[in-house]
Amino acid sequence: MRKKIFRTNDPHIQALARIVGEEAILFKKEDLIAYDCDGFTVHRHLPKAVVFPKNTEEVAAVVKYCHEHDLPFLARGAGTGLSGGAIPLNGEVVISLVRMKRLISVDLENRRAVVEPGFVNLKLTNSIANRGYYYAPDPSSQYCCTIGGNVAENAGGAHCLKYGVTTNHILGLEVVLPNGEVIEIGENGILDPLGYDLLGLLTGSEGTLGIVTKITVRILKNPEAKQTVLAYFDRVADASQAVSDIISAGMVPAALEMMDQTAIEAVEAAAFPVGHPNDIEALLLIEVDGISAGIDEQIEEILHICRKRNVREVKVAQNEQERAKWWANRKTGFGAMGAISPDYLVQDGVIPRSKLPEVLQQIEQISKKYGLRIANIFHAGDGNLHPLVLFNSEKPGETEKALAAGSECLQACAAVGGSITGEHGVGVEKKEEMRFIFTDDEITAQTNIRDVFNPKNLLNAGKLFPTPGRCVEVKKA
Ligand SMILES: Cc1cc2nc3c(=O)[nH]c(=O)nc-3n(C[C@H](O)[C@H](O)[C@H](O)COP(=O)(O)OP(=O)(O)OC[C@H]3O[C@@H](n4cnc5c(N)ncnc54)[C@H](O)[C@@H]3O)c2cc1C
Repeated sequence: MRKKIFRTNDPHIQALARIVGEEAILFKKEDLIAYDCDGFTVHRHLPKAVVFPKNTEEVAAVVKYCHEHDLPFLARGAGTGLSGGAIPLNGEVVISLVRMKRLISVDLENRRAVVEPGFVNLKLTNSIANRGYYYAPDPSSQYCCTIGGNVAENAGGAHCLKYGVTTNHILGLEVVLPNGEVIEIGENGILDPLGYDLLGLLTGSEGTLGIVTKITVRILKNPEAKQTVLAYFDRVADASQAVSDIISAGMVPAALEMMDQTAIEAVEAAAFPVGHPNDIEALLLIEVDGISAGIDEQIEEILHICRKRNVREVKVAQNEQERAKWWANRKTGFGAMGAISPDYLVQDGVIPRSKLPEVLQQIEQISKKYGLRIANIFHAGDGNLHPLVLFNSEKPGETEKALAAGSECLQACAAVGGSITGEHGVGVEKKEEMRFIFTDDEITAQTNIRDVFNPKNLLNAGKLFPTPGRCVEVKKA
């Protein structure tokens, strides 16, 4: 790290610098601006300071200092979160985990690896691929997001339909509690550990219960075979029906993704175009994997279902290069929105698959109502929608309109028995929408749990839960 002249009269900054070293703390406004938000850029707040501890002891000492001096603080990984979880709403001391990025061990025999929280998701698969293994949770941001951030958000990804989201792959955690104590949870991967399921509680707790400093994850053997299909549909209703038909035929593809026409326009205008037609309403990207025997039959059945649902064109990837090209096009889909709009807001609702056509139609109506384009690019197999509301923050009132349109999309998901987030978390962005799902009593039951871990509410305050009181009516289907 660049050596700087260290000059400050702030006793807290001086004390924190004594813990992590003068070269591992930022406190000047011009340095802090980069930490005023994450991937949810609508709210911005400057932190008090950003510290870069290099090990658990330093994290614990920083936390203990903040706890004793009533300084708000929060953890930060790569800052790719889309719900504002890492925004320092209260002028927090931001504890960045990016220097804690070691792959500590790999145990192929027992199919597990231990990583520090700042270890980048994709690096794990890259580190074990030559030995025939991989780490399954694959958020589209996996080339830069950290496994610590994935644990906090219980991240999902395209291949989580078959293999499960992050919580299904976490075997143990080392956690610094909000008072600075260090605990280990998970019993070396024992399937039914004694006591409460703290691993389940901590995973997905959005950085409000503790700071994760070491993670034991499950790793999987590469499937023997995989095949990938691309299907173009004139009508989004036919594509949605094909999704339902595939699942109800008893197949669980490794991935089953959908993009609508606006999303296709964006990915074709961005860095990894594939040459998708511009006049179709939807495409499906479907991947099956497993042992070689039976894969061809599954592909045949998928092709048959697509044809039955009036597919315009359907093709199977001819080689790994073609497959990788299709996936690069899909996985960079959010960023591709930049090619057609100055700003976009990503939503993350979940619905029963059977409600896909109905909810997509409602999203179209919301788009018309607000006069904003909404692209849809999502994990169709598990009903995890990502409406991307396109807007221009420079136009007065348009940000507010985008937020309202996003909220209505979530309300539509909740109303058909779905949820307001499938993988991106609640953070700041969706905490009011928690009322679409929970009563005041249910929210209080959960904040009571938070208060046991985080009694002073200094760790990541103002996230995940609204303050009980205001009530929102959601009509259930
Ligand atoms: C282009 C793009 C595509 C994306 N695609 C997906 C996707 O397919 N699936 C998906 O699930 N998400 C996706 N995301 C969202 C995001 O990448 C994930 O939520 C990811 O898990 C965040 O990791 P991070 O390291 O960036 O965490 P950050 O954004 O830094 O932090 C996120 C939250 O985790 C907390 N936190 C971070 N580290 C720790 C720690 N060590 N201990 C405790 N709390 C911690 C923070 O306080 C914050 O509340 C995408 C984001 C982008 C920008």
